Amino acid sequence: MAIQWDQMASDQGLRPGPEQELAPEKIRPICGPIPGLPAADPAWIALMAFAARYYRRPFGTIAVGLLPKWLRDIKNYAAKKEGGRSNFDRLMGEVVAAKDETPQQSSASEPALNLDQLAAFEAIQKPGVFVLHGVTGSGKTRVYTEVARRCIESGAQQQVLVMVPEIGLTPQLVARFAQALPGVEIAVLHSEVTERERARLWLSAATGRARLVIGTRLSIMTPMPHLALIIVDEEHDHSYKQQEGMRYSARDLAVWRAQNIGATLVLGSATPSIETWAQIERKKYHLLSLPHRATGEPAAPIELIDTLNDPAKEGLSQQSRSAIAQVLADGGQVLVFLNRRGYAPVLSCGSCGWSSRCPDCGVAAVLHRVDAASLATAKSNTTSVIARGEAPRQSTWRLQCHHCGIFASVPRQCPECGDSDLSPIGRGVQRLEDTLTAEFPQARILRIDRDTVKQGKALAAEIEKIERHEVDIVVGTQMLAKGHDFARMRLVVVADADTQLINADFRAPERLFATLVQVAGRAGRHGQAGSAARVLIQTRYPQHRLYRYLLGQDVAGFAKAELEDRQVAGLPPFSHMAAVRAAYRDETKTRQLLRTLRDELQQLAAEHSWPVTVYGPVARYPEMQAGKWRGQIILESGSRPALHNLLATAEGWMAQHRELDCHVDVDPVEV
Ligand code: ADP
Ligand code: ZN
Ligand code: ZN
Repeated sequence: MAIQWDQMASDQGLRPGPEQELAPEKIRPICGPIPGLPAADPAWIALMAFAARYYRRPFGTIAVGLLPKWLRDIKNYAAKKEGGRSNFDRLMGEVVAAKDETPQQSSASEPALNLDQLAAFEAIQKPGVFVLHGVTGSGKTRVYTEVARRCIESGAQQQVLVMVPEIGLTPQLVARFAQALPGVEIAVLHSEVTERERARLWLSAATGRARLVIGTRLSIMTPMPHLALIIVDEEHDHSYKQQEGMRYSARDLAVWRAQNIGATLVLGSATPSIETWAQIERKKYHLLSLPHRATGEPAAPIELIDTLNDPAKEGLSQQSRSAIAQVLADGGQVLVFLNRRGYAPVLSCGSCGWSSRCPDCGVAAVLHRVDAASLATAKSNTTSVIARGEAPRQSTWRLQCHHCGIFASVPRQCPECGDSDLSPIGRGVQRLEDTLTAEFPQARILRIDRDTVKQGKALAAEIEKIERHEVDIVVGTQMLAKGHDFARMRLVVVADADTQLINADFRAPERLFATLVQVAGRAGRHGQAGSAARVLIQTRYPQHRLYRYLLGQDVAGFAKAELEDRQVAGLPPFSHMAAVRAAYRDETKTRQLLRTLRDELQQLAAEHSWPVTVYGPVARYPEMQAGKWRGQIILESGSRPALHNLLATAEGWMAQHRELDCHVDVDPVEV
């Protein structure tokens, strides 16, 4: 997550990405260009070439792989009859026929910019990177729409790209832009559009017709010949990092792309990433702050509940229970947040200590109560049974591995000792929902998590229910934390964040802090709910540093402290990382081979005096997947070219050990 402004210039020094070897007889001649298909924009090709070098993938794989599938299908270019039109001709006809309206005066329904927004708006005029740091509800989106409007109305055919981390957030955002820019063609790119529609939107962007493109991470790869402004909302979000194939960071590529074409980049967030703060300190990015809520009301105060003094019985402390009761009595809404799906994280035997595990991954198998939504999409009841020897049977309960997704039935007795005293340990949102139902039988309770909501559209429907006040208590996971604006939400209760607090990943505190700031931001954003809003966090560690900054709503202070820690430890952004990962059925052999790679790389680094440290091999989490042991070695260096030189060597080694199923991850987010 750290392509850096100053290092962009020297990326020419990077070795080309790995090439795929192809037998000459397999290479076919080029017949000629497809009539009507727009010529590839050189800046777009440059972006692909950079991504290939930086993220270590063959250029051809990326450039071709990123074309919409529909456009890669040769059938679509052939006319069915002599002289007839091909599917492509028809599609292109639709693209060209799309009304090319000029932007109209925006409706007066948008509030005028306040002074902070105006200052930000005025500053975002020139090429460069602007960090728009504003608490939730401070009016960042309002600034985005205004900046986009100025760009589009400038008359120079300019195009704007807006990125959001999740499709769940697109409908709200699209509506805001559509309102601010009536008459402007907006291409909305996400994973839920059909292949043909994706091709149409892509062509519309590539021909410069779509003036505004809104999409998730993949949209950074959209060819836009007149791109002048990129907006990355929630820039700190890890969804911007692709976790398979080419493991790119769309946020980082946005930085490179904007710089390469001299465009303006706006990185918006209530909790900018630590990497971004580092660039602000180095004066590479300009910081613009929106310190207050746009509606003028103060942020809801955050209070900690020490669960040593007020134990969270059945997941809820006494204080939380009375606060919820109070808000419900006043006709307000409550959000109870717990970032853990299912009923309980593990099923365990009280006699012998057996606990439910996934036979493939080795991690705890989570106990789920099966509800209609999850039945519909369940992978057909796989043969794999977590408690071996037990025949699957119909049941409303099920064990599920959250890593590989397989299901298994719940054993009647302990598969180890035969005791029938099996009990769920810990608490997920389903169990918390039970607690709430028991405690507040009159309340209308809605649970929102990945088991109840599978698609962006479904989430939008649930959110409407909340907005129409058809529910009193919302209980849910991360899914709810982001970007949703609930007018009556007067109380937010964070049931348990302690597991994340003590996670070993060096980015865990940053992630948790961002999540809590976002969840807290759901409380009392508008007039009637305003003054009374509260945020309660139940924790066993009220003294933790993270909470000190959270209570003071001091995002910059938290970032500064984290940066100092990372500097001392030599962690990103004070060093660069890359992982070489392998997956193979035999752990011993994998470790041994990774060790030989590590030694080879260390030796090479020493010979050239490249300042690179190679760690490992270490197991990844989870260690096992699909019957293969997963391990990695980590390369760390202050020098990006040195790091990439070693990666190029590692790739040669990988090609000789194909059975290990290796890949490279540059700037991994989870280590
Ligand atoms: P953010 O994107 O930072 O969460 P939004 O742009 O969604 O913030 O604004 C939050 C709320 O404040 C919205 O309801 C919006 O209409 C309102 N708002 C934004 N700017 C202003 C303003 N200048 N004056 C009054 N209300 C505003
Ligand atoms: Zn047992
Ligand atoms: Zn598994």
